Amino acid sequence: MARLSRFDILEGNDRRPRRMCKNCGCALASSVVGDLCQNCKDDAIYKEVRKYVEENDVGEYEVAEKFDIPVESVRRWIKMGYMDYKKNN
Ligand SMILES: [Zn+2]
Repeated sequence: MARLSRFDILEGNDRRPRRMCKNCGCALASSVVGDLCQNCKDDAIYKEVRKYVEENDVGEYEVAEKFDIPVESVRRWIKMGYMDYKKNN
């Protein structure tokens, strides 16, 4: 795929339809699959992931694989205290 130069875009030669995130309305990069930006995608899946992690005895790699998300996202959520692994008391 030919890349448009900065000037092509400035001159309006970028004829690809502009896509916006269905949720927050931000402009979507052409590399984005689907109609949600990465943030909103993370947000949407986060709720499911948290439930799954709380109910199952799983590690970050299993979670990432199951939800097809980067392990970094899972790690970030845990680091930020958004969720925690199942406690084995
Ligand atoms: Zn969004």
